[in-house]
Amino acid sequence: MRYQQTLETSSFLSGIGLHSGNPASIAIHPAPVNTGVVFVVKHEADQIQSCPAGISFLGQTDHCTTLQAGDFGIQTVEHVLSALAGLEIDNAYVELLGSEIPAADGSATPFVDMVYQSGILTQDGPRKYLKIVQPITVEDAHRSISVLPSALPQITYNIDFPHPLIKQQEYHHFCTPHEYGKNIAGARTFAFQKEVEFLWSRGLGLGGSLQNTVVFSDTGLVNDEDLRFSDECVRHKILDLIGDLSLLGIPVIGHFIAKYAGHALHTQLVQAIMHNPDKWIMLNAGETGKDGILNGKNSSNSTIHPSELQPAFHAF
Ligand SMILES: [Zn+2]
Repeated sequence: MRYQQTLETSSFLSGIGLHSGNPASIAIHPAPVNTGVVFVVKHEADQIQSCPAGISFLGQTDHCTTLQAGDFGIQTVEHVLSALAGLEIDNAYVELLGSEIPAADGSATPFVDMVYQSGILTQDGPRKYLKIVQPITVEDAHRSISVLPSALPQITYNIDFPHPLIKQQEYHHFCTPHEYGKNIAGARTFAFQKEVEFLWSRGLGLGGSLQNTVVFSDTGLVNDEDLRFSDECVRHKILDLIGDLSLLGIPVIGHFIAKYAGHALHTQLVQAIMHNPDKWIMLNAGETGKDGILNGKNSSNSTIHPSELQPAFHAF
């Protein structure tokens, strides 16, 4: 029997938002069994607004993944969610100051470090899994993502960019915390120099810099620092996919195969899994039932009683 996990204590990170360019800080706190991951913001008078990391709260997926619960929106959730899912943290409160997760170094390593600084706590509740029993695919003209039955959770990702340092890349990832920390978490966000001004004109990437993004010129790298992996781009795509898949709210046992996909297609696959309950079964489903697990963790803008939170929650 595997048990759910949370953090032993709270941890903190400050920086700027990759897309807004505004100051951004987060704290990751322990949370009770069956909470899932919930983003919270504390207002005056101890009022707390919350948004579960669930697909029903999905906002825009243009260059990053955003969540929206009423007037509470959070930009660029995918890297912190990826770190939590990659390390098999089931329950956590992610408290924000601002409306975007800090860009950090463009990878998930700073969030992985937060988890390891806090320590991982095994909880008194069974871990639940969604096991794929029939293939599910979403695709558009040139891109696709599928999930196939598999004994173990794994991801195969393909990308193809006409750039001498990227070209065609394929990476296969067995989804374990060890593999995630060693081979996926460190892969950084990447962009192409010629696209950067276009992004700025659309109000995106305003906090982007060579400290948090790998920028490719026409023929090479703009950054002084070398790539962390020769296939860093495809590894970052897997990092993003793991974060986006976590919006399902339950780990999936299946083999994900992605070709040239991105946040939009990743989240469409999450929707397709939700809408095709004949293609998966629940393992260790417990008492909540499949609807409860997928949708019913917390309601939009629900108020969390401050006594449920750790004292460090009020540190900001
Ligand atoms: Zn990313």
